[in-house]
Amino acid sequence: MHEPMKIKRCEDALRMLAAHLDGELDEANHAEVERHLARCKSCYSRAEFERRLRAKLTEVGRVEPRSEFQSRIRHLIERYAGGEPTSD
Ligand SMILES: [Zn+2]
Repeated sequence: MHEPMKIKRCEDALRMLAAHLDGELDEANHAEVERHLARCKSCYSRAEFERRLRAKLTEVGRVEPRSEFQSRIRHLIERYAGGEPTSD
């Protein structure tokens, strides 16, 4: 049994925001984020912005924004990691 993450700072809330919007958090963490958003105006408007952005992206494209972003990052990492031979 693991304890839900306690949100003390906006940073913590924002770190969980993506998972929160994707519905990937368990109930306790979900409630924790909701509680912070209810109290924190800046995080709330950030969450609203992300939510609207997601809705729009889902509406417009077939490409999932998050996985596209991730594959782009992976591509960059592979490029840089593969570029230089490791000296042993
Ligand atoms: Zn906040």
